Amino acid sequence: MDRLVTAVGAPTCRPETKKYFIETFGCQMNVLDSERADAQLRKCGYQWTDVLEEADLILLNTCAVRERPAEKALVRISEIRRRKKPEAIIGIMGCVAQAEGRRLIDRAPDVKLIVGTQAVGHLAALVTQVERGGDAIVDVRMPNRPAFDRLAPEERRQRHVAYVTIVEGCDKFCTFCIVPFTRGRERSRSPEDILTELRALAGAGYKEVHLLGQNVNSYGLSRRIEGRRMGFADLLEMLAARSGVPRIKFTTSHPRDFDERIVRAIERWPQLCPWIHLPPQSGSDRILALMNRGYTAEEYLRKVEYIRRASRDISLTGDIIVGFPGETDEDFRQTVRLVEQVEFDGLYIFKYSPRPHTVAARWADTVPEPVKTERLMQLVEVQRGVQRRRWQRYLGREVEVLVEGRSTKSERHWAGHTPCHKVVNFESSMTNLEGLIVKVEVTKINPHSLFGRHVESRAESTV
Ligand code: SF4
Repeated sequence: MDRLVTAVGAPTCRPETKKYFIETFGCQMNVLDSERADAQLRKCGYQWTDVLEEADLILLNTCAVRERPAEKALVRISEIRRRKKPEAIIGIMGCVAQAEGRRLIDRAPDVKLIVGTQAVGHLAALVTQVERGGDAIVDVRMPNRPAFDRLAPEERRQRHVAYVTIVEGCDKFCTFCIVPFTRGRERSRSPEDILTELRALAGAGYKEVHLLGQNVNSYGLSRRIEGRRMGFADLLEMLAARSGVPRIKFTTSHPRDFDERIVRAIERWPQLCPWIHLPPQSGSDRILALMNRGYTAEEYLRKVEYIRRASRDISLTGDIIVGFPGETDEDFRQTVRLVEQVEFDGLYIFKYSPRPHTVAARWADTVPEPVKTERLMQLVEVQRGVQRRRWQRYLGREVEVLVEGRSTKSERHWAGHTPCHKVVNFESSMTNLEGLIVKVEVTKINPHSLFGRHVESRAESTV
């Protein structure tokens, strides 16, 4: 039988150094949870290793948005099992852990730890319990009060870009989405706490912060600051004015809650990066209603209009699901039309597949797999053309790049992101640019990145 944790004690620190390995799948929120896990594990004496075979504790941080997520996690566990030290402990965290709980242990009895999305903040205590031996530990409780841990700058893996959660969970219950079941009901973090964390990051030299939430636009609907209600646009303005962070990005925006004030804030504050991820999911009103998205294609296009009319060039990206139950050829044609009309700077296209607990999982998955694949390929082709055309506007332009390190493709080149979140690789004669914000002239447009040369005559910005 599993032990369900009901009380969490202080972790036991020990003198010997053990090593841990974490493999992270999924979104930025999972990346942040892995950083929170790092901080917890260091607390109880573990040191990070990137060599799985050396680790005493191996954690798989899972994503339930992937297709057949539990099966994929279990396949990965069997690969890990073959490579790990015999006595190493295996644990699963993230959305699959939350959704499946002890069922994972029924299917993989050597997994000794299941850490739900709300349990990362006391991982040290859970690991200490597992080390004592005995049955597996499962903690998938969903408390009403979220654990918005404030990570110290030195507890983070990245040195220039930091992720900060502002909203946890979601109340929208889109019929295809597992998030409300894995991350719980929506809760906003206090603005003072967010500001304090951003100031600490700015003080430690961080150049870019990503504000995270499943739906950042519904931030703080019930919160007040300085006597007035504080919405997401207010939070953005406050952080731009008072945090000292040079670049602030945010994701994900929900079209239903997205309002013009957010665009006005981006126009007003250069610290707010001109990039909005606003997923339409479909261009058919019938499918949008079945998805419970709460807007029509026309309403979505109206919000895009705000963005296009802005005085800054705001980059717009989105997500689309093809092959949702009941999607006809005509519904799909409407999606293609919307994609052509909007002209996204980037688009993530997914084939629908059912997720446990969701409403759509109870419906027949009516679109045959080959049709889903065909629709996906067709839309990818449409978007490729749109993107090629749209990105031409960068050719010859000078863009600001936060240099995150050497390019993965070539040691001779540097790589980083623009404020509009494009990847830029570039050449430079300088030997150390990491962490600086530099000017790059774009000389070539690749399908998914820009290439350019460092404009070295300019003084480099270190703020
Ligand atoms: S808004 Fe919809 S798709 Fe996004 S996290 Fe909430 S339920 Fe999922």
